Amino acid sequence: MKKCVYPGSFDPVSNGHLNIIERIAKVFDEVYVLISLNPNKEYTFTDEERLCMMKKVTSHLKNVHCELSEQLMINYAREKGAKIIIRGLRNIADYDYEMTRFQFNRSIDSDIDTFTLFPTMNNLFLSSSTIKELIIFCADVSAYLPKEILDFAVKTIKERK
Ligand code: ADP
Repeated sequence: MKKCVYPGSFDPVSNGHLNIIERIAKVFDEVYVLISLNPNKEYTFTDEERLCMMKKVTSHLKNVHCELSEQLMINYAREKGAKIIIRGLRNIADYDYEMTRFQFNRSIDSDIDTFTLFPTMNNLFLSSSTIKELIIFCADVSAYLPKEILDFAVKTIKERK
């Protein structure tokens, strides 16, 4: 069985993330979306909210499982029997970060590989932080966020800004 892990903050999940998930769900038998819990990072949404939004927007994909985990991502992948980590690659900044992360993960477990996917054209410039900034300035973000979470995400970001 082909299994992969797609880790991220998803604060909140965007159409760019969802596009990656829909594409990998066609290729892998099981996809584990790992919502990171990083005590050193400040999130806008709580862990439970990030998980709940992810579950909502992926409910149509029966082979996608969403979880929170405090453990090291590589250990989580091992536990699930997943040999592939999925990452999105938008630009050079992502490339630098992902290359380092790839080497680090390989040094822990050389059996687990990383596959990167490019965004589709309409998601190329999308990041959760840009979406949050746009919401604070009252811009329309309906093209960037999945419709199932749009109202909740916009309201919550405005309340917590
Ligand atoms: P970010 O805060 O940069 O959106 P996340 O940790 O939530 O980062 O992202 C998880 C993964 O999804 C990362 O590999 C990131 O590069 C990727 N990603 C983020 N936005 C997009 C997008 N618009 N298109 C494709 N991949 C993306």
